Amino acid sequence: MGFYSDEIIKEVQDRADILEIVSEYTSLKKRGDNYIGLCPFHSEKTPSFNVDVEKKLFYCFGCGVGGNVFTFIMNKENLSFPEAVRFLADKFNVRLPEKINSKLSQEFRERREYYKINRFAAKFFNYCLLHTRDGSRALSYIKQRGLTEETVEKFFLGYAPSSWDGLIKYARKMGIDSATLEKAGLAIARKDKQGHYDRFRNRLMFPIEDVTKNIIGFGGRALDDSMPKYLNSPETPLFSKGDNLYALSKIEKDPALDVIIVEGYMDCITLHQHGFRQTVASLGTALTQKQAKLLKKYTGGVILSYDADAAGEAATERGMEILAQEGLRVKILSLPKGKDPDEIIREQGGQSFQKLLDSSLDLVSYKLQKAKLGIKIETADGKLKYIKKAIDILCQINNEPELEIHMKNLAEQLGISVQALKKEVYRKKLANNGLQYKKSQTRYNNKEFKKISPVTGFYKAERKLLKLIIENESIRRNVGEKIDERYFTNDRTKKIADVLFKTIRQNTNQDIDVSNLFNYLDEESSAELSSILAERAELINEELICSLVTKVKEGYFKESIVKVREQLKQAEILGKREEINQLLNIYQQLKAEMDELNSHTTPGKEGA
Ligand SMILES: [Zn+2]
Repeated sequence: MGFYSDEIIKEVQDRADILEIVSEYTSLKKRGDNYIGLCPFHSEKTPSFNVDVEKKLFYCFGCGVGGNVFTFIMNKENLSFPEAVRFLADKFNVRLPEKINSKLSQEFRERREYYKINRFAAKFFNYCLLHTRDGSRALSYIKQRGLTEETVEKFFLGYAPSSWDGLIKYARKMGIDSATLEKAGLAIARKDKQGHYDRFRNRLMFPIEDVTKNIIGFGGRALDDSMPKYLNSPETPLFSKGDNLYALSKIEKDPALDVIIVEGYMDCITLHQHGFRQTVASLGTALTQKQAKLLKKYTGGVILSYDADAAGEAATERGMEILAQEGLRVKILSLPKGKDPDEIIREQGGQSFQKLLDSSLDLVSYKLQKAKLGIKIETADGKLKYIKKAIDILCQINNEPELEIHMKNLAEQLGISVQALKKEVYRKKLANNGLQYKKSQTRYNNKEFKKISPVTGFYKAERKLLKLIIENESIRRNVGEKIDERYFTNDRTKKIADVLFKTIRQNTNQDIDVSNLFNYLDEESSAELSSILAERAELINEELICSLVTKVKEGYFKESIVKVREQLKQAEILGKREEINQLLNIYQQLKAEMDELNSHTTPGKEGA
């Protein structure tokens, strides 16, 4: 880790009482050897959050989050690992060497300070909305838009008064100076450098939370003709528009539930109030890769619902590509021209919106529909023009069943034979091959490859083997002779294997502290390890271990061979002689090793 010595980390970990820490965020009840409660990381009604006090670990069967005390605090307080160590050391009176990280701890303190200031400002705005005469106009606007008191509370809406220094004055009374407000993005320095004025004035205020429910910034909607109509916090140490999504902290983590993405705060809030609780807003920017990655943690699919104007359509198109690239299922909801979701719900009710949701188009259908615009499909000429465009779109589909469906639909629609269409599509695909090939070398396609790996038998075997090694000293003692980390092919299990085998090699007495492993893992592999540990233990026998080792190695050889083959094709296209020879050597070596592996074992019982 570098920042703190292992001794210090161990001491903090030993002293930090996981039960006490977790209990500050959710209430726990004893059940059996463990404690259970409602998960503090996702909304749920029946408890699926477990704390194992003896092992000092936690795990949620609902959303899959898990780890040790540090992981918990990192997730809950949005801290880095060293920050979490410091946080817990402070709390449990462990003295840390001061000089190492005065800069880091200063940054960390500053961030906490800004969270507090934002919370303070949000409370002030909320008070102004509900209890001041100035705020009553904002309140009547809210009522006119049909929002209820519960909604105002759920989203902690507020009102920034129209005076130039409402917040500044109140903050000063509470001991916060305006220079600090400026750094938090809430005040602006006057041009003549004489003092500050409030950034948000006469605006309806939307506090923006990060996933851990800390307020990181604000959006403010003008209640008069002021421009811009929507004003966001500027970039601050906490806030960066492209890094967050509005209301992300309010939705449920569930890969099966599609998340609706809208443009505006009001759209988002109105949808939540009408039962569409899986809705987020994109904070008025084009979607970024960072936002797509964030969404990926919450869901497997999204429905883009942007305004039906030119700007909205352009944003939709950019957005859907970025989302699809992260491996999310993307659907597009087409709104009637000139309407936004908020209007539709207010004028026609939630059911109308549900109908629109049900009729939302998948990515390919959406592109086909757009391609058809402006073409007179009834004429032979128009038909040909459209087919040409459609084939280009169909060529981009790599999933066979999906391609079949779209070809069938299109053929029916145009009254042409599927066979003819198929022939054209495959011819074009083949012709594209050279070009597509280069594309498949990009990060995105590698990810596609890894994305499918989690369902394979190899991945299961990797998980089982890791569990057995972690939990059984007798296996640990000589597992190093049979296998090591290099054979693990899944992104997450590989990281775990790296740490595990390294730990085993370092500890001659084969003792490992499971909880300690988490200190070397990132968020994703921590969750992976927790879910591995939460699985039911299997009876150990030599045969099972042997077949798991074989299976894991087989997975490694297969993946390596596929990779080398791809590289070979690429090298052949580009005519790189030397590289081809090198790759052929590697290829043959891998093949030989794989044959060697197969000759020593009968096919493993551990099926896919
Ligand atoms: Zn959970």
